Amino acid sequence: MSMIEKSKVKIAIIGGGAAGSSAALYFGQLGLNVTLFEKSASLVSGPPWCHLHAGGNLYREISDAQCITLLKQSIDFLRFYPFVVDYRPTVIVLPTTDSSNPEALLPRLKLLTEEYKAHIAKDPKNEVLGKPENYYRIYTKEEIQGLREKALVQRPKTSDEWMIPVAKNIDMDKVQFPLIMVQEYGLNLFRLAAGAEMTLEALECVSLNMNSIVYNVQQNFETEGWDISYVKDDISHTDSFDYLINAAGFRTGKIDDLLGAPCKSMVEFKAAYVSHWDGCEGTQFPEVVFHGERGTPRGMGQFTPYPGGYFQLHGMTKDITLYEDGLVANSLVSCQPRLGQDFIDKIEKSWTQEETQKRTKAAIEHLSQYIPSFKSATVGSKPLFGAQQIPGDDPTLRVAEVSFPRERYARCEIVKVSSVLDMIDAMTQQFIDLGYLEANILGKRDFTHATDLDETALKQRAESIAVKRDYPRALANRNISKQVS
Ligand SMILES: Cc1cc2nc3c(=O)[nH]c(=O)nc-3n(C[C@H](O)[C@H](O)[C@H](O)COP(=O)(O)OP(=O)(O)OC[C@H]3O[C@@H](n4cnc5c(N)ncnc54)[C@H](O)[C@@H]3O)c2cc1C
Repeated sequence: MSMIEKSKVKIAIIGGGAAGSSAALYFGQLGLNVTLFEKSASLVSGPPWCHLHAGGNLYREISDAQCITLLKQSIDFLRFYPFVVDYRPTVIVLPTTDSSNPEALLPRLKLLTEEYKAHIAKDPKNEVLGKPENYYRIYTKEEIQGLREKALVQRPKTSDEWMIPVAKNIDMDKVQFPLIMVQEYGLNLFRLAAGAEMTLEALECVSLNMNSIVYNVQQNFETEGWDISYVKDDISHTDSFDYLINAAGFRTGKIDDLLGAPCKSMVEFKAAYVSHWDGCEGTQFPEVVFHGERGTPRGMGQFTPYPGGYFQLHGMTKDITLYEDGLVANSLVSCQPRLGQDFIDKIEKSWTQEETQKRTKAAIEHLSQYIPSFKSATVGSKPLFGAQQIPGDDPTLRVAEVSFPRERYARCEIVKVSSVLDMIDAMTQQFIDLGYLEANILGKRDFTHATDLDETALKQRAESIAVKRDYPRALANRNISKQVS
């Protein structure tokens, strides 16, 4: 097909979460004429995310194939969004109550190390998770006992230095050995929101329509494109586009319904809790993950450090992160799974003080089973929460990107944010087939937004977004901003 003049092709993106913002950044930097519609006042305001999930090490239940894909996708994500990454490692712990043992995790870690080496052999720039020989490291009980005696290090550089605060605080009778440290990093959603806004605002070919709600989409048979109606500042508008990207997150099904697109999907409401640990402001912790069976009182606990003594907590039990009736599927009459009104009220309005206190305290209690001194932590702010989409009918699915159920229509359904580059590659292929882009664009990764953002302005914007959303400024910052090999 002959190439169509790039600036003449009009792409609409509904939703400015990680999926829609990344698509706008990518195609905008390629010079395509992109319009992004986002109903909130700032980008990336949907469900939270703080784990990269390189290798899927937090999910024992998923297949090796999904872990290998998550590793590859995470490498792409680290290269595309270096300013979003918190380069602190993760410690994986199996409680004594767990039915499995740490040795059972080792074959997968060995497999992932080999995969990681293969990615580096293909392109040395893929070495974004440290040296492959340091991808994971195991710690015996004796080594942990030895590290208990060492002084804390303010800016840890080695695995041992990172492990010291864990050794000092963990209840050694409640956990199995060895403990495993893995180069699994954190992500900062406020920094992605800020960086994406700054880059998109500067791109002439991108129109950012914030505070804009899309309420109707009609096929335009004359142009073979889409007429999109939206409300902004109480005024209704309709514009025509050649291609539609539906990145509306857990509301993706609403747009599908307007188009009559076939679908099968689920939506899950979950929450993570923000705590503050007084006296711990200067201690640099790694992430610590305590494995456990999802949905039971011993569900996985995740202890995620932020600067200034803040810790984000997950507990995969029904009293903490998960909710009774929090997972719903779509029906035969609608693509949109229907969440209970209580969840919608939380998303659209707010949480009660009482529920914030109750669930955050339950999360602190859950984690202090293994880190007893953490019992003194207090509620740090309102929770980080939201509903996420899961395509199909398998709630354990972790790798999903995009489908094309109608002509000139992409439906983005990422489960993990690290999937966005595979999602973009699939859409790029469509754009090549339609003659919007040249074939050599496929797989392009080098963009200036990854290197040219001004750090001071980015930090200020990220902090301002966090504060406007009623979160502590510290949540917009990283513990470690550069990888130490
Ligand atoms: C508690 C919790 C913890 C999580 N932790 C992680 C993690 O650590 N790592 C990870 O990778 N993933 C994590 N996830 C999953 C992750 O949050 C989601 O996969 C991701 O945010 C989805 O991004 P998205 O862009 O597809 O959707 P969203 O972020 O939901 O974006 C969709 C956007 O579309 C907008 N929108 C919807 N309808 C319209 C409309 N009609 N008009 C205009 N705008 C519209 C919405 O306002 C929203 O901003 C977590 C999820 C939860 C709930």
